[in-house]
Amino acid sequence: MKTKLLNCNICPRNCNANRTQKNKGYCNTGKGYYIASVFSHQGEEPPISGKNGICNVFFAHCNLQCVYCQNYQISNNKINANKFEFSFEETIKKITNILDTGVEALGFVSPSHFVPQTIEIIKELKSRKYFPITVFNTNSYDKIETLQELEPYIDVYLPDLKYAFNDISLKYSGAKNYPQIAFASIREMYKQKGSGLFINKNGYAESGLIIRHLVLPNNINNSVEILRFIASEISTDVHISVMSQYNPQFLQKETPELNRPLTFQEYNVVLQEIEKLNFTNAFIQELESKDNYLPDFEKEKPFE
Ligand code: SF4
Repeated sequence: MKTKLLNCNICPRNCNANRTQKNKGYCNTGKGYYIASVFSHQGEEPPISGKNGICNVFFAHCNLQCVYCQNYQISNNKINANKFEFSFEETIKKITNILDTGVEALGFVSPSHFVPQTIEIIKELKSRKYFPITVFNTNSYDKIETLQELEPYIDVYLPDLKYAFNDISLKYSGAKNYPQIAFASIREMYKQKGSGLFINKNGYAESGLIIRHLVLPNNINNSVEILRFIASEISTDVHISVMSQYNPQFLQKETPELNRPLTFQEYNVVLQEIEKLNFTNAFIQELESKDNYLPDFEKEKPFE
């Protein structure tokens, strides 16, 4: 694992940073296990949460810095990551304590800058006879070769496909090339998993791909373009999850167009496009959801 971090090019930022030393890259994290929270979560899509919830491992910091991020308490790269650092053994213990309660899935949230650590965790769990369904819950700003490395370890990809346009990906997340990178990542995930979602008796997807998209106010053309990309270049049978939970409460930068929730009219345009394109497997969040997803990472269970 450490070799990748000596000259870190794990994600498309390509920092060449030696994360085993003080020279940290864009994500400003080192070689350790920087984990902001581990808890059992029921609020994901039904095949992700299953009957007993998913054990979500929230990594600290991120390789995108979205101005509206609802996890800003832990995702902001300016925060001192050391306060989130756990030993490998502590990390494994936190996870197994939750898996021992009957939780069948293990989700890695914002994992793009912690891929070697993610693989180490999964390998160690296997060596201890734990075989949870592994879920890679990513912002899609991932490299194809990194996803190929993950292929033997990840059962379900849960990517968020954010932007189709370079100007807003730069303005809102600091990554001008996000659309090109993310479209290629989604193609790779689809190549690995296809359209099928294989659900077990306890309601968990054991393998597959669900593409998420968070609809942003005043950016409906972006959502429409994302849907058209998925329909024309991936499949209309792939599972999509359209989210309306955007809440301006987390805005950290002057972006007046984002400073309000989504309207009914805006969301309706997106829903009509889903219908027009004939998607067959869509999870649709209720518009009222914006108040149900306000995490507080100071709490042991941030979503409760
Ligand atoms: S994982 Fe971090 S250090 Fe490595 S390339 Fe990405 S942002 Fe840079």
